Amino acid sequence: MIQLIRGFKDILPGEVELWQHIEKTARSLLESFGFKEIRIPILEHAELFARSIGEDTDIVEKEMYTFSDRKGDLITLRPEATASVVRSYIQHKLYAKDPVRKFYTIGPMFRRERPQKGRYRQFYQINAEVFGIDSPFIDAQLIFLLSVFFKKLSATELKVHINSLGCRICRPEFKKALSVFLSAAKEELCSDCRRRSNRNPLRVLDCKVPSCCSAMADAPSILDHLCSECSRHFEAVKNALEKFKISFVVDKRLVRGLDYYTRTTFEIQTGLLGAQNAVAGGGRYNSLVKALGGPDQPAAGFAIGLDRFVEITDLKAKDFAQNPDIFIAALGEKSMSMAFDWSCAFGLEGIIAELDFAGKSLKSQMKRADRLGAKHVLIVGEKELEEKAVILRNMTTKEQVMIPIDDIIETVKEKL
Ligand code: AMP
Repeated sequence: MIQLIRGFKDILPGEVELWQHIEKTARSLLESFGFKEIRIPILEHAELFARSIGEDTDIVEKEMYTFSDRKGDLITLRPEATASVVRSYIQHKLYAKDPVRKFYTIGPMFRRERPQKGRYRQFYQINAEVFGIDSPFIDAQLIFLLSVFFKKLSATELKVHINSLGCRICRPEFKKALSVFLSAAKEELCSDCRRRSNRNPLRVLDCKVPSCCSAMADAPSILDHLCSECSRHFEAVKNALEKFKISFVVDKRLVRGLDYYTRTTFEIQTGLLGAQNAVAGGGRYNSLVKALGGPDQPAAGFAIGLDRFVEITDLKAKDFAQNPDIFIAALGEKSMSMAFDWSCAFGLEGIIAELDFAGKSLKSQMKRADRLGAKHVLIVGEKELEEKAVILRNMTTKEQVMIPIDDIIETVKEKL
């Protein structure tokens, strides 16, 4: 038997209802705040990710599904959505009428990481991106939206971590100070970090290897190197969060795995998933639109990891399951034909109706109705057809009433 690819999964009925509820909540919340849906392709030119996420990141170095298509073009299964949304913003000149645009998108991402709890090779994200606004209010509003989203969906054991990564002006100074520190600490770093310390020293800050964590405890903090503009921006973000009554921790080691961030970065973390503690993350990326060939427009956004979220929420898929509203137990050929017509008519009215096509006994049809969790059963046999009235049984109260066949759809609708 052919099995799933490692790190991939099916989301089956019985689980998918929770996913649908989460997605519906996200759509409704984001649309209430002016975000419009954008659908971007799953495949993009590999170069898009190399240029935006950064050549020296784990994602680009070792996690992308990149292959050449029949013409030899290098294409990649998207590992994240921001780069594609930016590409689309530029390619379709979505800034032309008004540079301020807010988008959201929901869909699968692909990274060839080592699969473990909370980490998959195909995983799903809800992404939100805001273009054209440099105000710290937007950074705070994105975090506010995340906190409202998590509260609405009963995930409360979460912590907001924030940091600032500075900008083109102040980050180089910090990188220099960090590099000096790293060369002195070289012996204590893991082999990945020794390599990173030359090419991408910031990444050493969020290495999870214990020896690196302890070596980095006294590393210089970016927050001591922010220029006055970045400092003011960060203070304003914190003030706005306080105004929204969102508690947060300033985490000077939060650099996140993508190169394009400037100023604010944030992560929503959980204690429930071991090492994979980030349920959502995001930040500001003011230089990316220009770097990818667009106008000089600031931007900020976030990504929620749906797979991880589903694992930590207290909500259960069964609370959103849609059991049949009605099961039609039909006995005999004539009744079956009638029941089939009714089931289609119910469907058109948005009433979920099931019936049995196998001509089984009433007892076994009732058992099936019970198994399916049908709320009501309509019993129709030759006798009922003759008398032009059928039995409607409420499966919870066990109460039974006779209802006339004429106008049955309307009558049942009223009784459900
Ligand atoms: P990132 O794009 O790396 O900032 O990730 C944003 C969010 O996506 C994270 O906070 C996770 O919740 C989720 N995520 C990232 N990588 C994976 C993965 N391999 N499996 C499951 N979820 C992931």
